[in-house]
Amino acid sequence: ENARIPAYAAVLNEPQRQAVLTTEGPVLMLAGAGTGKTAALTARLAHLIATRRAWPSEILCVTFTNKAAREMRERVGRHIGDAVEGMPWLGTFHSIGARMLRRHAELAGLQPNYTIIDTDDQLRLLKQLIQENDLDEKRWPARQLAGLIDRWKNRGLNPDDLDAVENEAYANGRGAQFYRLYQDRLKALNACDFGDLLLHVVNVLRNHRDVLEHYQQRFKYILVDEYQDTNQVQYLWLRLLAQARKNICVVGDDDQSIYSWRGAEVANILRFEKDFPGAAVIKLEQNYRSTPQILAAASGLIDANSERLGKTLWTELPQGEKVRVIGIWDGPEEARRVGEEIERLEAEGAPLDQVAILVRAQYQTREFEDRFIQIGLNYRIVGGFRFYERAEIRDALAYLRVIEQPADDLAFERIYNQPKRGLGAKTLEAMRRHARRIEAPLAAASLDLADTDELPARARNTLVGLLGQFVHWREQAEKTTPAELLRMVIAESGYEEMLQTDRSAESAGRLENLTELARAMEDYDTLTDFLEHVSLIMDNDARDDGEKVTIMTMHAAKGLEFDHVFLPGWEEGVFPSQRALDEGGLASLEEERRLAYVAITRARRRCTILHAANRRIYGQWTSSIPSRFIDELPEDTVARETTLTGGASLWRANWTETEDPFAHVSTSRPDRSTARGPGWQRALTTGYDPVPKRLAEPGRSAASFAAKPRSDIAIG
Ligand code: ATP
Ligand code: MG
Repeated sequence: ENARIPAYAAVLNEPQRQAVLTTEGPVLMLAGAGTGKTAALTARLAHLIATRRAWPSEILCVTFTNKAAREMRERVGRHIGDAVEGMPWLGTFHSIGARMLRRHAELAGLQPNYTIIDTDDQLRLLKQLIQENDLDEKRWPARQLAGLIDRWKNRGLNPDDLDAVENEAYANGRGAQFYRLYQDRLKALNACDFGDLLLHVVNVLRNHRDVLEHYQQRFKYILVDEYQDTNQVQYLWLRLLAQARKNICVVGDDDQSIYSWRGAEVANILRFEKDFPGAAVIKLEQNYRSTPQILAAASGLIDANSERLGKTLWTELPQGEKVRVIGIWDGPEEARRVGEEIERLEAEGAPLDQVAILVRAQYQTREFEDRFIQIGLNYRIVGGFRFYERAEIRDALAYLRVIEQPADDLAFERIYNQPKRGLGAKTLEAMRRHARRIEAPLAAASLDLADTDELPARARNTLVGLLGQFVHWREQAEKTTPAELLRMVIAESGYEEMLQTDRSAESAGRLENLTELARAMEDYDTLTDFLEHVSLIMDNDARDDGEKVTIMTMHAAKGLEFDHVFLPGWEEGVFPSQRALDEGGLASLEEERRLAYVAITRARRRCTILHAANRRIYGQWTSSIPSRFIDELPEDTVARETTLTGGASLWRANWTETEDPFAHVSTSRPDRSTARGPGWQRALTTGYDPVPKRLAEPGRSAASFAAKPRSDIAIG
């Protein structure tokens, strides 16, 4: 079988090929960024199918984002052609979980057309429960409960599984009670939240041997990318499914574990060998992505972490440019500078889709958006949140959800009086009361209520009219496409008219957004499919189209690569984040450092780090201190630049020892001529930082990243 090497394995090095050819038994591939883990996993998938070890439908392959799944599907398709089409079990944990749950919804107490609610709905539901149970919401915020429930679900815990400590974590020992109330209410609504997608499935697999055995037999091979970021419930799910055949291959990098805040446990990768004794452990050390300079900078940085396995990385790529560290005045200048740099790259012929701006926090994107719109630079925000989070989009989706699922109370509540129909809070109160009384969903109960004389005649008529419309739309849903249905709903509900009569610039944009929503729906045959799709991208990544600069969070950039990467906002309190600093623990700081490692290693050719001397955070101008991570980059891999030298003498002239120590916090935008404060001082001096002393230690220099002899590249 080894004699003729198929195309998908030809470009692989020896350890990668091992990972492909060791098809039977557990395999752990543990290696640093850009060493071709995902490439090897993809080749393995192609190999399994090409050699007929399994049909595409018999392989479970979990990727971190929908985009990664799409790319893998494409790549495998290139090697094995149409056979790739039937790969229903390639996707994210969430998407695969949702698919399994649809099949076994009844076993989880749901109907197959269940709704996946988002965090917004989740909070409203919890608030309601808190109110109904006379708990003081100020003392026990819904948000806190939501966080706890998330944590429990990520750990695979049902209400009955909570121990005393967990139970104590909410409302003086009522944690389990509220968790149970919430789960019961979700079931009554025929809905589940994101955490349930896997928890329900794990419960079904645990409680129904026949279902478990069915999947254990079906999935001849299991492949998992980014294993270092799996949480407990994902781990349990995989372990259940892999137990019988044990053909499971996981790949990951402990240095890139960046989701512990979502319950990911890097320990999962470390105990793989214990769970699956005799696992083949494969290490990759050659990096094919980044220049030696970028690699040395990233490796030097991650060296500062204490909790790591440690690994060697080397590359044969040409030396390339040093990592640039640019100090600028403030946020707007940062956006301006990045804009200019990108225009320069564009002029040099760099494709825009090879340029990325990776931010620590969502709020950082706005400044770049504003600037890029101004200069006409094409960009996209990856994260998917923006569009689907707009109010009009959420309203439209709520209509569709009620059509799809009459019991979706949360959706119904959102739109029963949107556009305004003269149904106020009192009516809602009456509707809710009646729903509880007759134990029916809100919409059905409202119809029932309209038969009584509890409501004024006007409200009764309005309700009957609205519910009649829903019946009509539900009929139409059978006959027409989802996109057509949406247009119909927008027009007939009065929503369109509401926006048209309101002549503000904003409502014009809103109408455009709704048009865009209909356009997005053209790709879907059924409403169920579309709504599921929306739920999934709300949580995950967006689809891409055309050549655009990418703006995204560092978290979302995991696994991706770009020729040119810009990393703005490397200041204490932004990155590392204020939250990590406030928590103060070593663990949270080390996670931030791993995030920095992930961010830098996304760059193939050029990496530019920026830090501003002044930053407006929550409406206040603050002078900022360059991130400690900048100081941790090995000095010989970095080229420092600052645009601040002009202000230096001014600042020195203005500064006196006796000045107000809090003068650097201000609500008005600082002016160079009155610059003051520690951040400014640091920003000025970073250009001349002495070589950090840690570089004097042996084994830290970039020299260890020089090329190694080429011995393990297969030519094919
Ligand atoms: P990350 O840790 O960031 O997820 P990774 O280990 O998954 O990285 P890949 O994304 O698979 O790495 O590969 C990085 C780059 O190296 C890709 O552009 C890939 O095409 C290329 N590559 C992988 N293996 C080889 C190889 N044997 N020869 C040449 N190029 C390779
Ligand atoms: Mg990868």
